[in-house]
Amino acid sequence: MNWTELYDRLFQVYGDCRCPLVHVSPFQLLAAVMLSAQCRDDRVNQVTKELFAEAPDAPAMAALPVERIAELIKPCGLYAAKAKNLSAAAKMIVEKFGNTVPRTMEELILLPGIGRKSANVILGNCFDIPGFPVDTHVNRLLNRLGAVKCADPVKIEAVVDAAVPPERWTNFSHLLIFHGRAVCHARNPECARCVLRSLCAFGKKCKEQ
Ligand code: SF4
Repeated sequence: MNWTELYDRLFQVYGDCRCPLVHVSPFQLLAAVMLSAQCRDDRVNQVTKELFAEAPDAPAMAALPVERIAELIKPCGLYAAKAKNLSAAAKMIVEKFGNTVPRTMEELILLPGIGRKSANVILGNCFDIPGFPVDTHVNRLLNRLGAVKCADPVKIEAVVDAAVPPERWTNFSHLLIFHGRAVCHARNPECARCVLRSLCAFGKKCKEQ
C-alpha cells in the first residue's frame, strides 16, 4: 500500500478533520467517546448537551446518581452499562488521578469503559499525543483497501503506526472514518465515485462503473 498516496487523496477531500463529538474539556470528550459506542455522533451530541448541563466535569458526574446518568443518556443505547462506566470513570478520575484526565495510554485504559480506541481518541484530540484509533470504519476501509488483512484493532494499529508518520495518525483515523461514512459504506460502498479506487483491492474488482 502506498500510505502517503492514500493519506494525500483523503486529505484533499476532507482536509484537517475535527473530532465531531462536541466537548470543551478532556473529561467531556472522554464521556462523549464512551457514549458513542454503537451510537451515531449526532445523537451523542444531542445527549451530551443535556448531560453536561447537569454534570460538566468529573466531580459533578461522580456526584450524580447512576440512575440519573442512565436516564439522561438513554437515547444512546446500552445506557445501563454506559452509565455505570461513566460514573465509575468519573470517580476514578477524581479519586485516583486528582481530578485530571490522565495523559497516557496505560492510565487511560484503567478507566472503566475506556479501551485503546477511546484512549487514542482522547490522546490525539485533547493532548496532541499521536494515536491511531481503530473503529469499525477504519477496520473496514483498511481491509477493503488491502492495506491490512486482519480484523484485530491492535494489530491494525501496529501496522499503521509502523507505516505512517506519528503526526498524521490522529487525522488519518478521522479521514478514514469520514470516508467510511460518506462513501465506503458497510453495505453498498460507492466505488464508482471513490477517490481511492485505483489503490483499492476491493474497488478494482468491483463491477460498479
Ligand atoms: S474503492 Fe470502494 S471499497 Fe475501496 S475504499 Fe473506495 S468505496 Fe471503499
